[in-house]
Parts: sequence; structure tokens; C-alpha cells
Amino acid sequence: MMTRVRFAPSPTGNLHIGSVRTALFNWVFAKKSKGTLVLRIEDTDLERSKPEFEANILEGLHWLGLDFDEGPHVGGNYGPYRQSERIGLGVYQRVADEFLAKKLAYYAFETSEELDKERLDAEAKSLPYVYSRNSLKLTEAEVSEKLASGMPYVIRFRIPDGRGAVVTNDLIRGPVSFEADLLGDFVILKSDGTPTYNFAVVVDDIAMEITHVIRGEDHISNTPRQELLYEAIGAKAPEFAHLPIILGPDRSKLSKRHGAQSVSEYRDQGYLPDALVNYLSLLGWSPKDTRELLSKDELVAIFEIHQISKSGAIFDIEKLNWMNAHYIRPLSPFVLLDLVRPFLNDKQKAVFESKYTQETQLTILELVKDSLTVLPDINREVSIFTDSYDEYLEQYNGLEPGHLPMEVIRKFRDWVTQISAEIYEIDIDAVIDEILVETKLGKGKVMRPIRMACTGRASGPLLSRVLSLLGRDCLLERLKRF
Ligand code: GLU
Repeated sequence: MMTRVRFAPSPTGNLHIGSVRTALFNWVFAKKSKGTLVLRIEDTDLERSKPEFEANILEGLHWLGLDFDEGPHVGGNYGPYRQSERIGLGVYQRVADEFLAKKLAYYAFETSEELDKERLDAEAKSLPYVYSRNSLKLTEAEVSEKLASGMPYVIRFRIPDGRGAVVTNDLIRGPVSFEADLLGDFVILKSDGTPTYNFAVVVDDIAMEITHVIRGEDHISNTPRQELLYEAIGAKAPEFAHLPIILGPDRSKLSKRHGAQSVSEYRDQGYLPDALVNYLSLLGWSPKDTRELLSKDELVAIFEIHQISKSGAIFDIEKLNWMNAHYIRPLSPFVLLDLVRPFLNDKQKAVFESKYTQETQLTILELVKDSLTVLPDINREVSIFTDSYDEYLEQYNGLEPGHLPMEVIRKFRDWVTQISAEIYEIDIDAVIDEILVETKLGKGKVMRPIRMACTGRASGPLLSRVLSLLGRDCLLERLKRF
């Protein structure tokens, strides 16, 4: 049988980093098993679902390079791929009607006040709440009468009497068991005719011939209800795999206060999609060897669902930063230039692009790229080359120059003064060597003051290249004023 998996986000918010991890593991699993990956938009919560969130989800998945074989944006033979459209086709109503006919489900007429009271009574007795089944006690005539009078109703699934334990063999957790009696007869169709999550998901997973359900651990308690629905429909349940929860560094559930939550926020903060994908792949999974830097292809080659851990995975921004820097380093300056341009602030952009030819811009990028953790760091790194004289002084004032050997700086200035045109790196290296010999000072004692006097900074990339890129006029101006 062909493997078919799905990612089923609810468009009630922007694409969340935790959901992406779920999408990614489904994507890898589909690729690995040469199966099909389906995107299903679970928008049955008509009030909270918004088209802009669906757009954000699609954009985020596309940006990350997670391609789908079927979905609302690419079509397929198992549509519609939005649950709201399936409601319109009466898909859920038909299954609910069959359940009613077979007495696997029944109409329930309690008001929300009556249900609240049941819940409070259970709480007062410190008992777990289970629906009273009062509506199941109604005679057929009573039910018909209530329906005819237009009384609002829901349809509840009837938990089979004496069903005992419902056991799911989770691919990650092994056997997970729930007592059916404690589940309570749950609602499958709400009073507005829309399906509940548990019902919609099962009807759709059957219709879309899903073979494996890979999703977050927060859904594990839904699984026994879903297993019972499969039994009632007479369909084989898919294999289930529940991914470990993602925690913040303080070991509480990852939330807003731990920082950015949505993929678009990470994109806007200058993270690269491949770095994010690589990082997320290690949240709850690790390869047998200790490799951490994995391309998508490598991930597909070595991924094993059984290697996913049961315990929570900690989101560590430092590690993501390290990985992002690693993914920036091998980029060609051409590619990098396109990536960083949107992150340059207006002033920086204006100076960088007017003062330097594209060739020089590329050389500068090559020079500074090892110092980038996230793309906006480009502003900090190119500022050596875009500082006005005042800004250069500001940098300088922030430093503790100590007792700079003025002799070194004077010698260097004298040399620059007599250069008539372009300054070459090789000549800078040569003059620095000369100063070393003449002053008998150590390398650091010569290079650091020159760097400070010319850039206002105590450290930075390869000095001779920085100075040759700054050019004679700029150096002369800065050294004179210094
Ligand atoms: N719409 C559900 C969610 O976003 C999907 C759960 C499932 O995969 O079954 O959490």
C-alpha cells in the first residue's frame, strides 16, 4: 500500500514553529517512504479561521521548501482539501446519519447551562467529568417531538458499552491505553451542523486514505476517540506517531515569552530556511551518529521514525543561531547580496550602494560573511565601510584606545599620504612589515592601532583588505583627523 501522510493545520494563527516541526517530519517520512504528502486545511472553526492565516501557512511552507503533493494550492484526487468545503458537500452529515441509523450515535438536547451543571457536580465530587447520557434515555417519540419542535441539538457518538481499554500502538511511544468508559459520549456534530475536530479528522483521514498520522503529542488524548470512530465506521485506523512536545529553555511549554513563535517572524529576523529546517529536524529526533548539520537530502536518507524521542525537546535559540551562521558561510556573495539587501537599513543601503561598485560590494560581503549570525547583522558588519566621519568618531569614542603608539599611526599615515592612487592589499602588508621592523613592536601592537585609527574599531576582518577597500581618500581623511 502507498504511504499517504498529511499535515493538517488549523488556519487560526500564523504558521507556528511547532507545527512546522510536524510538517517537516511528515515531509521527511513521505519522501523516505516514496509516499504522498497531503496538506489539509482544518478550518471548521469558522469564527477563528482566517484566509490570511491560511496564506501565511502556505507561504511559510513554501519558503521552507516543504513541498506538498496534494492540497488546496496544488489540487489532487482526494479533495476538497479544506474542511469548510467538505462541510458544504455534506460529507460529515452523511457519516453522522449512518451512525444515527445504526444507533452508534444519538441526538442530545442539553443546553450549555445543563452541561455546565453536570460538570460542576462532578467537580464537587472530585470525579472526572463524563457526560450523563441523559439524552440517550429519551424514547424515540420524545426525540422526534423535540426535533419537530426545532429544539437545538448536537449528535453524540455512543461509546460501545463494556468496550474496556482502547489501545493504540504508537510508533514512537509503543502501546498507549485509555479506558473507554472515561471518554464519555462525545459530540461529533455541533448544533450548527459543523463537525467536531475528532470526527472531521477521522472522516477525512479515511476519505483521503491516510496511512500514517504524525502529529504533536497534544493530540494523544484524542486518539482513543478517533480509534473508536474508525471501529464504528468499519475502517482500519492509520498508524499513529505522536511527536514530543517542544519546550522552552525553562522546560515549560514553548510560548510567546520564549521569543518568536511563527515562521514569518524567523524569516523577518534573518534566519535561513535551510537552517531552520535543519534545526527543527533535531527537535525530538537525532541521527545514530552525532551529526547535526544535515541537508534535507541527508535527513531523508537517515531519518527513522522509531528514533524519535518520547521526551520533550528543548528549543535552544543559541543552537539555531550557530546553525544559521553555519548556513550563511558557504553562500556565494552573489546569493548573499540578494539575501541581505532587504535587511540593510535605509541609510546603510544608500551609502553601500552609491559608494561601492557591485564588485566591491561582493568583495565586502565575502570579507564579512563569517561574522554574520542572522542576516540583519549585515548592518553592523558593513558599517566600517559606510560610516560617515562622525559615525567613525562615535565608534572610536566608544573604545578605550589606551596608550596607542602614535609613532605607528604616524608612519602609516605618512605612507598613505604619498600614495597617489589605489591602495593594494599587498602594499599594505608590506608597509606593516616595514613598521614592524622599524619599531621592533609585536604584530598586534602595530596592527591594532592602525585598525583603530582607520576604522574606529579594535577588531574586525582581514585588516589589509578592509583598508584597501576603504580606499586612499577615506583613509587619509580619517588618519588626518585622528
Ligand atoms: N488541526 C489539528 C491541529 O492543527 C490537526 C491535528 C491532527 O493532525 O490530527 O492541531
